[in-house]
Amino acid sequence: MKNSKEEFNFELFDSVELEINSACNRDCGFCPRYYNRTGIRKDEAGNMVRKQMPTDKVKSVIDELIAMGFRGKIRFHRLSEPLVDKRYLGFVKYAKSKGLLVTDHTNGDVLKNDAELCKQLDGLVDEYKIGLYDYTTHKGKQKEIAFWKTQFKKTRITFSLPLEYTNIRQDSKAYYKKYKNPKILDQPCDTRLDALLIRYDGEVSLCCQDDECTFGLGNVFEKPIAEIWGSEKHKSIIDSVTKPEGRHNFELCSKCYIFSGFQDEAPSFGKRILRKAKYILMKTNDFAWKKGLVNIRIKNAINSEAEKIY
Ligand code: SF4
Ligand code: SF4
Repeated sequence: MKNSKEEFNFELFDSVELEINSACNRDCGFCPRYYNRTGIRKDEAGNMVRKQMPTDKVKSVIDELIAMGFRGKIRFHRLSEPLVDKRYLGFVKYAKSKGLLVTDHTNGDVLKNDAELCKQLDGLVDEYKIGLYDYTTHKGKQKEIAFWKTQFKKTRITFSLPLEYTNIRQDSKAYYKKYKNPKILDQPCDTRLDALLIRYDGEVSLCCQDDECTFGLGNVFEKPIAEIWGSEKHKSIIDSVTKPEGRHNFELCSKCYIFSGFQDEAPSFGKRILRKAKYILMKTNDFAWKKGLVNIRIKNAINSEAEKIY
């Protein structure tokens, strides 16, 4: 049985998502949770699923990662909000005590209303990427950014701006509303596939799109992580999907438009100038917003519960 870094000949993951719970207090149109009805995020009637990874399992996965020689970045979400789980601070402390870096993503709703928790996490968490989902003007965006910079002095803060830069992900509203270039489906998958993604029930996802774990890689509660990560099956899927037209070999990939862009297609001089002008306007003032130069198409819905769910 392969259970340490030395015993398997496949490059080790560079980061880990260890999802501690299934829930999120928001219901964003750009999120693949939106149309999920499989019982993983929402049930058939569209009600949110609320499940937690047991505390002893979270800790034993961290212990296993350490035993494998992993000392990289860990995040406690997958397709959920980690801060709605009251155990969050304890898990951050546990991971840090083992020498891991905590670099998490959050929608910020719990932190916004809990200055004391921000103080406790400041400097303990190495980096937060905070989703800004509610601004409607350039000034509003700057105000939100300034707020977060006062809350965190030691933790590095970055922001995700899906209202302006949306990834087209399956099961989201955006997937059905946005233009999708069919040529992308013939391109090799160029997403980073070097993160270990563990869902709240222990199942391993191949990539950010694979929330249903359709590739059947395995469950970390049943098999050693090294065995799952270093398996021939995992290697051959990655080999296949990263080749030209490789997306057609897998049902999920054959409908996936996640792509970082056609590098060889340089836009015309006119388009480059227009793009640059839009960018400058967007960065500098409210004019761009008023003229609709900023693309906010999908409004974000917020559930009534913005507090911790568990
Ligand atoms: S806050 Fe994040 S996880 Fe929650 S619905 Fe929005 S994008 Fe999805
Ligand atoms: S092409 Fe396949 S492996 Fe790549 S991101 Fe899309 S679903 Fe995942």
